[in-house]
Amino acid sequence: MGVIVAKFGGSSLADAGQFRKVRDILLADDRRRLAVVSAPGKREDGDDKVTDLLYACHDRAAQGENIDELFEKLRGRFLEMSRELDLSLNMEAEMEQLHFALTSGRHTRDYAVSRGEYLSARMLADFMGWEFIDASEGVLFDNRGVFDQERTQEVLSRRLAGVEHAVIPGFYGSMPDGMVKTFSRGGSDISGAIVARAAAAELYENWTDVPGFLMADPRIVKKPKPIAVITYRELRELAYMGASVLHDEAIFPVRTAGIPINIRNTNDPSAPGTMILRADESHVRGAITAIAGRKGFTAIAIEKNMMNAELGFGRRILGALEDCGISFEHLPTGIDTMTVLCSDANLSGKIEQVIEKIRRSCQPDHIEVISGLSLIATVGRGMVRYPGTASRIFAALADAGINIRMIDQGSSEINIITAVESADFERAVNAIYAAFNK
Ligand code: ASP
Repeated sequence: MGVIVAKFGGSSLADAGQFRKVRDILLADDRRRLAVVSAPGKREDGDDKVTDLLYACHDRAAQGENIDELFEKLRGRFLEMSRELDLSLNMEAEMEQLHFALTSGRHTRDYAVSRGEYLSARMLADFMGWEFIDASEGVLFDNRGVFDQERTQEVLSRRLAGVEHAVIPGFYGSMPDGMVKTFSRGGSDISGAIVARAAAAELYENWTDVPGFLMADPRIVKKPKPIAVITYRELRELAYMGASVLHDEAIFPVRTAGIPINIRNTNDPSAPGTMILRADESHVRGAITAIAGRKGFTAIAIEKNMMNAELGFGRRILGALEDCGISFEHLPTGIDTMTVLCSDANLSGKIEQVIEKIRRSCQPDHIEVISGLSLIATVGRGMVRYPGTASRIFAALADAGINIRMIDQGSSEINIITAVESADFERAVNAIYAAFNK
């Protein structure tokens, strides 16, 4: 029988009630034999995430401050869950060890915070009657602390061979000397993907508290439609614009192995969620899949007569940026114009310097700085096949009276990027959304 790796995020394991939902989900499909878990997250708005409490406790203890009150919050939560789930785990003893890990100065920060996932996995394993496999055994980093994909694949796949059912903590692994090392925040998504690859899973399920990906940001567009199917490439384009449900790095291990990802909602398990597939496996349903955007860009527009014939012009412009330590996001060009679009964060404090450098090395006829721009990406694997997609976007913006400051369509033909003034941003996203959802 095939295997599905099911990864559960922090809010899916926030209390005993959520653990029960997780158990029902795992038992509902025989193929769900490997679970990867986050540390317990927020039970409601304003609540603490266990990982945040662990960081705070460790850092305060390292400063010599008293952590009794903070630690009590952690202890209370774990003891309550353990009691309500009637676990056989000796949680009092676990809490003593946790206190030691946080306060003794004998353990690293990574080790201390990894205990959230460790305990979460121990609890779920106990509750399910499944084996517990420590991530330290199979998720491996090298001496410099860089994740070692090849060795992990080799060791972890061997460790998982023949395992019937197991729970594995997310977020961390170990270095060659045995020291615990964590991924960046939200890293359990990566662990889930790594386990899915090592187990040669047929599917990687990522259980969260949202219905999957939506066609647009619900803070901008009212009730956007959910996305049933999206490709890895489309997801990359959207993630660049800040649309995030999944940790960026979680895609690569499963993408390499051709394992689809299914984003699901623990609080609404019968909903199909969003399926992330390779382009050759996905049907095209319409011209566009989603719209995402970001504020905070500035364009440097450079004009020079006969620019196209001048050897090395582009190199000199980019050289000026490089000398100032500025990376650029987009580079739309015309016959006599070249525009460099940068994020404000990248440009901050350096604009005068770079303009001066460009003036000196390129002697342009005209150079203009346009700040306060937003980028909107209209992404769709279907747009190659549907003529008129660009014109629908532009007509929608024109009808809404919105001025387009720049257009960029990469040769990938799955993304049309428009720049508008930030004051028009929300209206522009709504206009494009409406044009494709009549
Ligand atoms: N618990 C970790 C965090 O809060 C990792 C995760 O949940 O993915 O970042």
